[in-house]
Amino acid sequence: MAKITRVRTIRTRRNGGWIIVKVETDQPGLYGIGSASDWYQGDAVVAAIEQSLGPRLVGRDASAIEDHWQSGYTCGYWRNGSILNTALGGIDMALWDIKGKEAGMPVYQLLGGGSRAAVPCYAHAGGNTLEALEEDIRRYVADGYPVIRCQLGPYGGGGFIPAERAGRPDGAGAFPSSSPGVFDDESYLENVPRMFAYLRDRLGFGVKLTHDVHEHLRPHNAVTLAKLLEPYRLYFLEDNLSPEQVAYYRQIRQQCVTPQAMGELFVNPHEWLPLVQERLIDYIRCRVSKIGGISAAMKIAHVCEMYGVQTAWQEGGDNDPVNQAAAMHVDMTSWNFGIQEENHFTDEELEIFPGHARLERGHLYPNASPGLGIDFDEEKATRMLDRDLSRKPRHMAEDRRADGTAVRP
Ligand SMILES: [Mg+2]
Repeated sequence: MAKITRVRTIRTRRNGGWIIVKVETDQPGLYGIGSASDWYQGDAVVAAIEQSLGPRLVGRDASAIEDHWQSGYTCGYWRNGSILNTALGGIDMALWDIKGKEAGMPVYQLLGGGSRAAVPCYAHAGGNTLEALEEDIRRYVADGYPVIRCQLGPYGGGGFIPAERAGRPDGAGAFPSSSPGVFDDESYLENVPRMFAYLRDRLGFGVKLTHDVHEHLRPHNAVTLAKLLEPYRLYFLEDNLSPEQVAYYRQIRQQCVTPQAMGELFVNPHEWLPLVQERLIDYIRCRVSKIGGISAAMKIAHVCEMYGVQTAWQEGGDNDPVNQAAAMHVDMTSWNFGIQEENHFTDEELEIFPGHARLERGHLYPNASPGLGIDFDEEKATRMLDRDLSRKPRHMAEDRRADGTAVRP
C-alpha cells in the first residue's frame, strides 16, 4: 500500500497559467501528476491544495481515490465551487495516475478499457472575413479534423458594430472595454446565419461544423439563433445560453432540432442534471478539472449515457497537457463520447511533459505507459516560468453593449 507523503503544486508555462499537482508517496519513485490550472484565480487554487486538501491526505492510502474525493469534497463544508473543484480535480487525476502506475496499466484500461482506437477532436477555425474563415476550415479538413468550429473573429464576432455607428449615449465610451466595437444581438442574428449559409454553399453538408456563442446573446435571441441555424445542420451549437438562463433550453427544444452543447462553466451537478434528465442538451461540455477530475467526469459520462447525451469535454487555450491527457483517458473508454475539443501547445511547452498525448490528423492518441502516460520535468517547468508575468492579475475580456452594459461572457 502506497501512503501519500506530500501534495504540492508547481506553476509553469511562461505566464504561470499552468498549475501542476504532484502527489508523492512513500514508495520509491511512485508519484502522480494532475492539472489544477486556473487562469484567473490560480493562487486561490494553490492555497486550497497546499493549505487545506493536501495536508489532510498525508499519511493516507493513495489507492482510496473515491474516499479522498468524497471526504475532500465536504472537508471545507461548503462545496461545488470552481476553486475547490479544480483543487480536488488536480489531486484526483494524480491519484488515478498513481493507481495506473501501481496496476501497470494506462488509466483508460482501469476505467473500462478502450471503446475506440483514438479520440477525434474538433478544431477552432476563425477568420475576420468569410473568405478567411473558409480557408481556415479547409486547412483543418485537410489536416484530418473530423469536426470544425467556425467563428467570425473573436467570441461574439459577427455581433460587433463600430462604436461610432452604435448610437451610443454620452458617457457610454467611459466603461472599460476589451473590444473597439460594441456588441449587438441583432447584428449577431444577422451575421452568424449568413456565415453558415456561405459555408454550406461553399463546402456542402459533408463537413461537420459547430459554432460557439460564448453566452453573448439575450436568452430570447439565443432561441431565435438556434432556430435560424436549423437549415445548416450544425454538429452542435455551443454555449448558446449563459448558465443562469439554461431554462430557455426548453424553448429551444420546442422550436428546432439544432443540437445543443453546454457546460464549460458548470461546476455543480444541479446545473447539468436537469438538462440531461429532460434531454434538453445533446453534448455535455464541462472541463474535466473544473468538475473534480476523472472520477467526476466518469460519473457524468455514465449518467449522460442513460439519457442519450454525448460528451465533448472542454479544452480552453489556457488548459495544460495534463488536463488534456485526463480528458483523453475518459474519452477513450466512454461509450457515449461525442467529440473532444482540441488544444495545442508549443514544442518547448511539450518538452516539459514527456509522454504527452499525441495529436495526429485531428485525433489524440494515448501511449501504452502505465497511469496517465504523461510525466513532468520540474526543472524545465521552473526554468520556463516568468515570475513577473505569472503574478499579473488576469480578468475575462469585457464586451459592452451600445449603452455601456457589460455582456456576460
Ligand atoms: Mg466554448
